[in-house]
Amino acid sequence: MKTKPKLICPICGAEYNGPVQRCECGEPVEFEPFKGEPYLGKTVWERFYDFWPVEPELELSLGEGDTPLVRSKLGKELGVKLYLKNETVNPTWSFKDRGTFLAMSYALKADYKAVGTVSTGNMAASVSAYASRFGLNAKILVSEKTGDEKLRAVSVYGADVIRVKGDYGRLYFDSLKLGERLGVYFINSDNPFRVEGYKGIAFEIAEEVTPDYVLIPTSSGGLFRGIAKGFLELRESGLIEELPVLVAVQAEGCSPICRAFKEGKGRLERFENPKTIAQAIANPYPPSGNAVLRLLREFGWPCVSVGDEEIIGAQRELAGEGLFVEPASATGMAALEKLGESGVIPEGSKVVSILTGSGLKALSHVEGGKIVECPIDELENCLR
Ligand SMILES: *Cc1c(COP(=O)(O)O)cnc(C)c1O
Ligand SMILES: [Zn+2]
Repeated sequence: MKTKPKLICPICGAEYNGPVQRCECGEPVEFEPFKGEPYLGKTVWERFYDFWPVEPELELSLGEGDTPLVRSKLGKELGVKLYLKNETVNPTWSFKDRGTFLAMSYALKADYKAVGTVSTGNMAASVSAYASRFGLNAKILVSEKTGDEKLRAVSVYGADVIRVKGDYGRLYFDSLKLGERLGVYFINSDNPFRVEGYKGIAFEIAEEVTPDYVLIPTSSGGLFRGIAKGFLELRESGLIEELPVLVAVQAEGCSPICRAFKEGKGRLERFENPKTIAQAIANPYPPSGNAVLRLLREFGWPCVSVGDEEIIGAQRELAGEGLFVEPASATGMAALEKLGESGVIPEGSKVVSILTGSGLKALSHVEGGKIVECPIDELENCLR
């Protein structure tokens, strides 16, 4: 059995023992650092057992995590060794499943009957799927702009999908408050258990390579914080010697973290009129933005933003290697090209790019390849 770990605010240092999600200062709390050793085991949950804040419900796992690290040819031109962490093979086709599984394990043990989230995309599908699996009710809050088609991949699992009219930015905070009152455990983008689940990406990478750089598509900041915490805990446990450089990657059309970073601001401001093809990373006011900014400053890590043209180009290059990812997930590759060309990432570096989610999630904008029309009697000619 695991002892109950403390929660700490990374910004003001306040400590909590209860299941809070945000500090009184307004920032997200996180679990105190874990130390441990790896064990033999089939799943990442078993091999890194010491590092989870709650006992993972292994018999309810859908096989999240333990994703392939694919050696890519795309780094050749830039002279780097590129590895692609393929998170698109998770049960609902994005890395969100890792965090959802761990948070759901907590919700079940804490005897919640319902869970919720605020999302229109990958997180909504992930929470809906795992709620079904765990036998819990799911309340999915979406903005009034979300179309029916997008919601089919969410409601199919049986969740209550609630389209909310009004300020979408307020929903994150209102959901936490109301959830506490009504006994619905909200697993939003930077829920402390969710962030812990994402550490598995760092653990699995470290089992295979010692990267110099890791490229991380960043929206709310939960994924970035999770991977950072994972590498830090590995170092504190003596399992790796040095931290890789973690690169926060955003879309130019919605880059509140990179903007605040470049302007030297200590606090984030809302990014007005966001517009990017990378819908999955278009949060204009990331709830973990200040926490990410602090990590970037503390460790001297960069923030890079990339344009839609570069994103589409990178998406096509990845497809050319057999990996079809959504635009948000191609931003890492686009950033690599920018950083490689400008010499920020030197030749010979080992680089990992996180392919966060599947291209099938965002088909509408994709320009397909060539299609040949062929009458059956001319098949022989068509095949030549
Ligand atoms: C959620 C998501 C991200 C960003 O993760 P955050 O924790 O919000 O920073 C990146 N790519 C995809 C495909 C996602 O679904
Ligand atoms: Zn605080």
